[in-house]
Amino acid sequence: MTLYIDGHSERYELQALCLLFFAGEGAALREGAPPDGDERFVHTRLHEEAEGLRLFVRVCLSGECREAGGSLPHTEDHIRITHAFARLLYPILCNLTGITPPWGMLTGVRPVKLFLRRLEAGMSPEAVENYFCTEQAVSREKARLACETALVQRSLPELDEKRVALYVSIPFCPTRCRYCSFVSQTIERAGHLLRPYAEKLERELQLLGERAGRAGLILESAYVGGGTPTTLDTPLLGRILAAVRKNFTFVPGAEFTVEAGRPDTFTPEKCGVMKEAGVTRVSVNPQSLCEEVLRRAGRPHTARQAEDALRMAREAGFGTLNMDLIAGLEGDTPETFAASLRQVMEWGPENITVHALSVKRSAWLAEERGTVLAHDTARESVALSCRMLMEAYRPYYLYRQKNTVGNLENTGWSLPGHESLYNVRIMDENQTILSAGAGGVTKLAAPDAAERKIQRIFHCKYPYEYISRFEGECAKLSEVEKFYGICPANVL
Ligand code: SF4
Repeated sequence: MTLYIDGHSERYELQALCLLFFAGEGAALREGAPPDGDERFVHTRLHEEAEGLRLFVRVCLSGECREAGGSLPHTEDHIRITHAFARLLYPILCNLTGITPPWGMLTGVRPVKLFLRRLEAGMSPEAVENYFCTEQAVSREKARLACETALVQRSLPELDEKRVALYVSIPFCPTRCRYCSFVSQTIERAGHLLRPYAEKLERELQLLGERAGRAGLILESAYVGGGTPTTLDTPLLGRILAAVRKNFTFVPGAEFTVEAGRPDTFTPEKCGVMKEAGVTRVSVNPQSLCEEVLRRAGRPHTARQAEDALRMAREAGFGTLNMDLIAGLEGDTPETFAASLRQVMEWGPENITVHALSVKRSAWLAEERGTVLAHDTARESVALSCRMLMEAYRPYYLYRQKNTVGNLENTGWSLPGHESLYNVRIMDENQTILSAGAGGVTKLAAPDAAERKIQRIFHCKYPYEYISRFEGECAKLSEVEKFYGICPANVL
């Protein structure tokens, strides 16, 4: 399908809108009007007349065509022009494709921000919900979910410019899940890198901690993720966690999370070193409790191991436990998904995160998408999860990704008081996040929020690059002090 941009510049927003309907096929951009013979296109045209702007859209799909037009007063406001085009196109695209996107015309990854902005401007939750349902065609269910999430976020502690987050990347996993699109190395291929990687990371944490300390930064949260950090053996894991604890100052009551994503990598000994380092949160992520779904996802663990891992973490005394589930996995059905969720809810972790399966280009599933992806199943599973979780948990963060099945969202649910600030802030992109390790991206957020300035420092992607270019990677860390107006120390 081709999207023709004729007489205006609103290409990317309109392309994102088209992709809600043509995710598998794509929407190629062209300037001007469609040539004779093109039978599959969206044409958007704008021209200026003395009395205002005239907008025109025409959609043709395999012989069927629809068109609509409208006008706007003269304006240079791109948001208004895009919105006017979207309102003309959206009903036609729904009609011709038979698809009704659950998030309506919203294409961004952080819809909650839009809801929050209106709540903060003094609108009531009902008015905000109604606005998004009527003006943006968001389904009532999604509008309510986003509004609830925004209300929980409003009650969380305010940002403080010197309180920052730390992300520590351990991009290794025991094996690769079939649906994985992360840069994570398997033990089979890269097991020999574990020790040198952990040793470099330990050193980086020391250097980063020194620089953060000089800049007066203290940790509101630390998150050790990946990959599967518990792929490291107990002594290496203990060294990394101790390096986080030793080299950074934490605010009282700060979050310290470790992902134990694969339940089969979690042991009482690893629990012990995590406790010793002051870890407060553990995430055990079975993704499904249906053995057949786990097998087809390429996850060599059982539901029983997930239960054991959760119990182990509970007995060790971690205050907040999380479990992740994925909707839309191969072989899953709304019934088996609901059974997994019901079981997880019975186990009672303080956080439950429901993801919609993401099929990125690098994922193995992308090659089989036509046959494997059950969009309707994922939609039903996510809808079920909202209904079930609303009864006992509150949604506290939510984001959308490109290429999720069913154009759905990922939602973090929490018992009151157990919300993860790390998860909320990372979505908002308004807090400094220091990153250590391969694939990490440090985001330095301007102390003056009005500027909305974010400076990014990218680490190289793969562990072998990180190890071989370690000095250069560490040299980048001096940007942290510079950003906060301090002359960088020579600590290398
Ligand atoms: S556990 Fe996560 S990071 Fe590791 S292979 Fe599976 S999906 Fe990828």
